[in-house]
Amino acid sequence: MERNGESGDVTALILADGRRVEADFFVDCTGFRGLLIEEALGTGYEDWRYLLPCDRAVALPTVRTEPPSPYTRATAHAAGWQWRIPLQHRTGNGLVYASDHLSDDAAAAALLAAVEGQPLAEPRFLRFTTGRRRQAWNRNVVAIGLAAGFLEPLESTSLHLIQTGVTRLLALLPERGPDPLAQAEYNRITAEEYERIRDFLVLHYHANRRPEPFWQARAQTPPPERLQWKLDHFRQFGRVVSEGPELFANTAWTAVMIGQGSCRSRRSRWCACAATRTRGASCPACGAPLRTPSRNVRSI
Ligand SMILES: Cc1cc2nc3c(=O)[nH]c(=O)nc-3n(C[C@H](O)[C@H](O)[C@H](O)COP(=O)(O)OP(=O)(O)OC[C@H]3O[C@@H](n4cnc5c(N)ncnc54)[C@H](O)[C@@H]3O)c2cc1C
Repeated sequence: MERNGESGDVTALILADGRRVEADFFVDCTGFRGLLIEEALGTGYEDWRYLLPCDRAVALPTVRTEPPSPYTRATAHAAGWQWRIPLQHRTGNGLVYASDHLSDDAAAAALLAAVEGQPLAEPRFLRFTTGRRRQAWNRNVVAIGLAAGFLEPLESTSLHLIQTGVTRLLALLPERGPDPLAQAEYNRITAEEYERIRDFLVLHYHANRRPEPFWQARAQTPPPERLQWKLDHFRQFGRVVSEGPELFANTAWTAVMIGQGSCRSRRSRWCACAATRTRGASCPACGAPLRTPSRNVRSI
């Protein structure tokens, strides 16, 4: 590629067949490699492995053994979780894990032991680092998709992030020349979007009560400030608070908070959530008596 010596902007790409493609503006969709955004511009990457330490996956397709269910199943494992995606012609399986806690061989063995149906291929390993590019739009390059960042696939958000990146770019694309205002807005919204999804993923891990070292470490890692704020409100008042529109609606947050038993403040003997309307009942998630048995979980 060629760059402008003064501004540092990318000015042209040289293709493998020798052709030269000149442009004012480039979209980097080269996946994890980030050919322009990272290799050329050195934008930098915010590494979120301290919050979401799963950094590998092993995938294995198997023969379908039953009529496909209309949902993906995610099952916790000792050092990560397993996906099971029913398709019409086969079942997709995979184990997402933290390489600090599980070797590749052990992960493949755990997956092989847990799948139903004959394997259709050899296990395929993937590596990733959860995080985001410090600026999705840097100089005259916008990174979209894996070039912009990666959130581990617990909620399958990658394709959604590609779609919103494209839509956002179309809305903010400058008509002519560089536009720092549009660039700042693109980066602000992109960072927000990634961080809100990150926090929702962290909730799944942070709120667990499993005994294995991997899970214990997740429960003991302090959550991001905004997630702590959400947890505090839910535990105290049984409501989900939000700063604005999010991919995951309040009902999704409520489901995970209750499902993981994150509904009681450590200081309270009462549970604030209204998971059941039976007066005098205890919460099915945390076992504590319900403080507000006749009120719905409120969303604001
Ligand atoms: C098993 C599996 C299951 C998944 N399931 C889901 C799901 O259910 N939902 C979901 O949202 N996401 C899912 N994903 C993730 C999703 O598929 C990816 O996030 C998405 O494909 C990423 O697209 P991308 O274009 O950013 O990157 P990529 O697909 O990696 O594409 C980058 C492209 O750039 C090309 N490239 C790189 N360097 C150069 C170069 N120098 N010159 C020319 N070309 C170059 C590469 O060859 C590649 O074709 C899954 C992924 C896997 C592996």
